[in-house]
Amino acid sequence: MQVCTTFVSDIIDMAPIIVLIALILLIVFFVFYKRPKKKVFLPENFREILTKNVSYYHKLDEKNKEKFEEKIKDFLSYVRIDGIDTTVEDIDRLLVASAAVIPIFGFKKWKYNNLRNVLLYPASFNREEFLASGYEKNTLGMIGNGPMQRVMILSKPALRGGFMNKESRANTGIHEFVHLLDKEDGEVDGLPEVLLNRKYNSKWIEQMNKNIGMILQENSDISHYGATNKAEFFAVTSEYFFNLPELFKENHPELFELMGLIFNQDPTNL
Ligand SMILES: [Zn+2]
Repeated sequence: MQVCTTFVSDIIDMAPIIVLIALILLIVFFVFYKRPKKKVFLPENFREILTKNVSYYHKLDEKNKEKFEEKIKDFLSYVRIDGIDTTVEDIDRLLVASAAVIPIFGFKKWKYNNLRNVLLYPASFNREEFLASGYEKNTLGMIGNGPMQRVMILSKPALRGGFMNKESRANTGIHEFVHLLDKEDGEVDGLPEVLLNRKYNSKWIEQMNKNIGMILQENSDISHYGATNKAEFFAVTSEYFFNLPELFKENHPELFELMGLIFNQDPTNL
């Protein structure tokens, strides 16, 4: 009986230590446990779709093509793509993912923490429905705020057009993903503080002001929409930077250099 009493009192004495160990194990579990990733299967002809439609992918060498494909799979493992009054085909999923991967291709690991869902809308839509969710009549894309936080809306024809029209400076998908990158520091203001080394901030702001002025004076080949404000300037020039990099470099060497620093890549030399 004596043995038993001693044993019980020992256990009681050790209780705080046991609780502490359990707590530490629990914390270690929550810190290091990684939820198994959703397995993403790309369609059988995904390489054909990408090669035909995404010039950026087409220009990559074999090793970087594989890297691009891995990044696409990673993106699709945590972002859902749904169609509202329109079907979502393989090509649409691949184009949304490409628009997401292109601006972050220069970074080793990037997760769009502020995105869970992309909604694709047809060109002709129920205007009331859009207005109810804050969508304007002629908008081709937007990133949500408030209750629509973590949601991106894209017009399906605009998404496809941005990739299929090889001569165009416009790419709605890339435009919206660049807004998301801009938003990483809390503000969509054209200054992606998370991406750009602080020492280039004033140079970038100076370039934005100068070029917005030139657009307003009809003295630039950058879309007029870029003069709306600095956030739109950054998104619009990024479309041009990635869609027609050679032309952009030739016409805007200073912007090209700074944007190469922001995105940590040179799209003329993939
Ligand atoms: Zn915009």
